[in-house]
Amino acid sequence: MADLKALYQQVILEHYRAPRNFGRPLVFTTHARGDNPMCGDNVEVFLHLEHGVIQGAAFEGEGCAIARASASLMTQALRGMTVEKAREFQKRFGKMIQSEPGSPCPQELQGVEALAGVRAYPTRHKCALLCWRALEAALDGDSDPVTTELS
Ligand code: ZN
Repeated sequence: MADLKALYQQVILEHYRAPRNFGRPLVFTTHARGDNPMCGDNVEVFLHLEHGVIQGAAFEGEGCAIARASASLMTQALRGMTVEKAREFQKRFGKMIQSEPGSPCPQELQGVEALAGVRAYPTRHKCALLCWRALEAALDGDSDPVTTELS
């Protein structure tokens, strides 16, 4: 169980216990839901886009510490980003998770570096990536109220 100590880093635990931007917001322009049956995580991401800029990002759902902390950190980092930048951020994060554990986390991923620790645990990659997949779907579905089911 010593490995878990490294995995559930302080930042991740803190965001799990007190997630930021948690709950369905009153105002949003696009949203998407993701499910990770492997772990039992589900997350719905809500974005409030105005003139191509993310004015607000929030999430709700149930999941493990990694899934919840990832969504908390992600929604925090997204605020104020353009849609273009958010797409790039999402792609970079996906690449980072697949990269060699212990290699430096790209500077562009400032704000979500704590999740780099998940790289050492391949079975948890889906937990960390879940909200990012939902983000991608939400960005694709801008001003489309249809919920996207991801598998
Ligand atoms: Zn999980």
